[in-house]
Amino acid sequence: MKNTCFEQTPTALDQRATNPMKPNYRRCISCRSVKSKQEFWRIVRVFPSGQVQLDKGMGRSAYICPQTSCLQTAQKKNRLGRSLRASVPETLYEALWQRLAQSNSQNQT
Ligand SMILES: [Zn+2]
Repeated sequence: MKNTCFEQTPTALDQRATNPMKPNYRRCISCRSVKSKQEFWRIVRVFPSGQVQLDKGMGRSAYICPQTSCLQTAQKKNRLGRSLRASVPETLYEALWQRLAQSNSQNQT
């Protein structure tokens, strides 16, 4: 039995095709290049706790390219902290470095 109707959502594709004027573009906090939202890592200062975390949450968010140079700049110059107006814990950078290492090793195989 096939249930192909559940595998695809044509409406979502249609929206993308017919709505090119409103892409989800974001700017990297380090290199300032603009790309679609999906290509970035998102870091969020969660409201109202003020906790800084990755990917999820409601609040002020910053976007960064998943690459070494941008992560380095963000950490050295505290770009993340400035952008979020919060202190970014070392553990968050560690998590990002780890993620970067993981994605690099995946690309090689
Ligand atoms: Zn960047």
